[in-house]
Amino acid sequence: TIDRVSTRFPAIPAKLGRVPAGISRRRSRIVVTGGAGFVGSHLVDKLIKRGDDVIVIDNFFTGRKENLVHHFGNPRFELIRHDVVEPILLEVDQIYHLACPASPVHYKYNPVKTIKTNVMGTLNMLGLAKRIGARFLLTSTSEVYGDPLEHPQKETYWGNVNPIGERSCYDEGKRTAETLAMDYHRGADVEVRIARIFNTYGPRMCLDDGRVVSNFVAQAIRKQPLTVYGDGKQTRSFQYVSDLVDGLYALMESEHVGPFNLGNPGEFTMLELAEVVKETIDSSATIEFRPNTADDPHMRKPDISKAKELLNWEPKVSLREGLPLMVSDFQNRILNEDEGKGV
Ligand code: NAD
Ligand code: UDP
Ligand code: UDP
Repeated sequence: TIDRVSTRFPAIPAKLGRVPAGISRRRSRIVVTGGAGFVGSHLVDKLIKRGDDVIVIDNFFTGRKENLVHHFGNPRFELIRHDVVEPILLEVDQIYHLACPASPVHYKYNPVKTIKTNVMGTLNMLGLAKRIGARFLLTSTSEVYGDPLEHPQKETYWGNVNPIGERSCYDEGKRTAETLAMDYHRGADVEVRIARIFNTYGPRMCLDDGRVVSNFVAQAIRKQPLTVYGDGKQTRSFQYVSDLVDGLYALMESEHVGPFNLGNPGEFTMLELAEVVKETIDSSATIEFRPNTADDPHMRKPDISKAKELLNWEPKVSLREGLPLMVSDFQNRILNEDEGKGV
């Protein structure tokens, strides 16, 4: 069972040693910070399905209880409303640290809070990992490469990041989070795992998060023009969420620290993405050009050879296969929203 403990009691070592080959893996106690969000909730589904005990920590800034409601009532699942900027005491074996707004609209909304979440939140979760001997996985981002001068991006590339721009709270926050993880690893022997995630899409993305896939899909369903920023020639690589969840899991269970790029190497311009959305949802959708945002990276594409070789992982779902899988979820939520407004 899972108990919160008081500071007056020493930590119970979480690691009970490796499971010998041939004996089935014992049930783990796992924390997922940010587990009420888009990626976190899909990860929780996988862990619960595997039979683990899962504690979600979330402050519901961008996450929603609806994403987890199907686990309510399951004694192996616990949801704690908590802000990772504040310390917390728990006893677990593994920590998947996802808490942080991910879309530019959300992380720019309160940039100082974004930095605090990335720095103080990650520090607290590493302090927790150190105290209880838990393995810690950081969900970093392709944004650590900034507006990259190397293409595609390998993990060895140090990046081209503006330290004082509008995106810096996120980019530099994640870079610091990576530094903290490595310092706890080297200095306090914490078992860390670092994933650098590239743009990911799928069901349960926030409808209003301003990311390009959620914007285009919602716009096409609502019969609104697809808003292409700038000239639409900038590129991104889009990964379906189940591939990411498989990659995070493979990394956590591996013996490798990383960092590892987790993304789909298929590269699309925003104009090409708009075409795929049109093919998938509404061929009569139109395109409207808008000014681009500051410091928008011109291109992004992961080199995933390291994850392929060491984690035996690669994405399976192409953009044309994945997009249709999020459409019915978006249609249902847009319909409910409209009904709520009495439309
Ligand atoms: P999301 O916004 O859907 O989920 C983030 C979750 O963290 C939400 O449930 C939110 O309420 C919670 N949260 C935010 N600040 C918190 C705080 N201070 N304390 C507790 N909870 C807090 O985003 P997502 O797309 O699911 O991203 C999950 C993680 O993956 C993030 O760390 C993000 O930086 C990283 N990532 C995502 C992508 C992507 O394309 N989705 C790409 C790169 C990296
Ligand atoms: N921390 C936490 N839970 C724990 C252990 C630590 O939230 O179970 C927090 C702690 O409050 C501190 C941070 O993690 O702010 C770093 O902890 P650490 O022990 O590494 O550093 P110190 O407390 O010595 O600064
Ligand atoms: N973008 C766009 N239309 C939109 C939203 C975003 O053309 O409605 C562009 C944006 O300028 C960027 C790319 O899509 O070049 C990806 O943006 P997103 O916010 O999804 O993620 P980022 O990779 O920038 O974090």
